[in-house]
Amino acid sequence: MAHVVIAGAGVTGLTLAYLLAQRGIEVTLVEAATQFDRVFRGEGLMPGGIQALEQMDLLKLLQELPTQQIHTWEFVVNDRAFLQAREPEELGIYRPTLISQPLFLEALLKRAQTFPCFHFKHGTVQGLNHESDRPDARVSGVVVRQAGQEVTLTADLVIGADGRKSAVRRLADLPLEKLDYDADVLWLRMAAPLPESDRHTFYGFIREAESLGAYTAWDNSLKMAYILPREQLSQEQPLAQKQRQDWKAIDWANRIAKIAPPSFAQHIRAHADTLDSPVLLNVMLARCPQWYRPGVLLLGDAAHPMAPIRAQGINVALRDVIVAVNHLQPILQTETEVNLGAIDSALQNIQSERQPEIIRCQDLQRQEQDHATQLCRSPLLRQMLMLMSPVIRPFSGKVWMARQHQLRFGVRSVLLDPPVLS
Ligand SMILES: Cc1cc2nc3c(=O)[nH]c(=O)nc-3n(C[C@H](O)[C@H](O)[C@H](O)COP(=O)(O)OP(=O)(O)OC[C@H]3O[C@@H](n4cnc5c(N)ncnc54)[C@H](O)[C@@H]3O)c2cc1C
Repeated sequence: MAHVVIAGAGVTGLTLAYLLAQRGIEVTLVEAATQFDRVFRGEGLMPGGIQALEQMDLLKLLQELPTQQIHTWEFVVNDRAFLQAREPEELGIYRPTLISQPLFLEALLKRAQTFPCFHFKHGTVQGLNHESDRPDARVSGVVVRQAGQEVTLTADLVIGADGRKSAVRRLADLPLEKLDYDADVLWLRMAAPLPESDRHTFYGFIREAESLGAYTAWDNSLKMAYILPREQLSQEQPLAQKQRQDWKAIDWANRIAKIAPPSFAQHIRAHADTLDSPVLLNVMLARCPQWYRPGVLLLGDAAHPMAPIRAQGINVALRDVIVAVNHLQPILQTETEVNLGAIDSALQNIQSERQPEIIRCQDLQRQEQDHATQLCRSPLLRQMLMLMSPVIRPFSGKVWMARQHQLRFGVRSVLLDPPVLS
């Protein structure tokens, strides 16, 4: 029987392992972290991501967990609301939704563990084995470090779903091309929910050269992303230190409140004591020109790290998984000898099918960030926008929503083939 080893139990690795095991394919999932609740995991699902989960029959599992829907997007420059976009009500359960990724992963792991073909291992993938010593030899397994010991797992296919700093990518010598992206994110969480009427709104605030994204998360906390242009990060002394202890002197509540309009600012200042220490998240937007070598494939952030803007990472990763399963299922579901050549050809087809959407979404992410950066950099542009806001406001929401279509639903339709069980 075919055996697949997957490195990394994030959204990519765990959903893929789940679907393969559900189809009777032997799969071992290796995860380095001992708990899912790491400093940060993306938590925004777009309609296309929710549809992908529905196809995987995981929507019910998601609905059993705490979530928060976004109904409105509101963008404010220097206190002037210039754009309000409403999510169409008829989208219903497909409206953008904030989830707890750790809770989702925990629940999915439990469900996957009910399949006899699913095996979960704590450990760090730190080596690849090859069929022979030839430089172009096929990958035939991984070396996992677990509790100070090395374990070798043989595999017909190794999948690197180990995130943007992928060890599998490095070990397989698959280069990563970094794209220009101008901003990092300082992540802030405040245990003080907004009034009920504002809890389904995603806010974007710009004041002078600074910008802030804010939303009410699945646990009713207020989460805020203070966008830091890289220039600012390198110039401003305390921020450049990148160390939490150096940031203690900064009055964060006051600093972010200054960007928001008065009522929002008042909320932040009134609940300043509930603000957690900020976490700096370096944003990486990049992609591999080639996602595979014989015997090994990269998926999700390992193949194409996504930026946070318009919550793309989980969504495109879920769609990668669907395409990979469609191509791999017929080859791996075999009771005779596994056709390794057919697997390797499928890897190429998986990349060819997914790459156009990834390139398009990354380009759109850059465009969205560039618009915000231009507004922050140009007082003239901000002034013009403020003057024009009464004129453009009535239709800016519709125009914006139309521009977001591919970032919300994906570039092309991705449909999961039903499981064929022998
Ligand atoms: C600030 C910020 C905000 C974001 N917000 C969103 C959002 O709202 N919505 C969204 O869709 N996306 C968002 N993203 C992007 C999103 O988080 C990622 O694209 C997504 O998590 C990728 O999933 P993944 O499973 O491919 O990788 P990851 O989630 O990174 O998972 C990789 C897993 O592999 C494990 N691992 C690593 N190395 C090894 C190893 N050697 N051996 C074994 N295991 C290993 C890790 O512990 C981890 O569990 C955001 C990103 C950033 C930086």
